[in-house]
Amino acid sequence: MADKKNFEKQIPNNVVVLESVKCCAEGCKKKMERATFCGEHFDWFKAGLITKEGLRAPDFDKKHYHYTAAKKSA
Ligand SMILES: [Zn+2]
Repeated sequence: MADKKNFEKQIPNNVVVLESVKCCAEGCKKKMERATFCGEHFDWFKAGLITKEGLRAPDFDKKHYHYTAAKKSA
């Protein structure tokens, strides 16, 4: 007969902690909001400025120039 008087309540401590809750764009410390990016970098991704891994496109400078120019005039 098992003695269960000291039975401890099982507290679930396997709560999943996501390491990658931050935006995956290079150097960005914001939280991810959309897909794996923050709001701003999701726009960058859509505009082709960065890859889905958060790396800059080869012609990033050119694209970024046009991206910011388009944003200003919007
Ligand atoms: Zn970001």
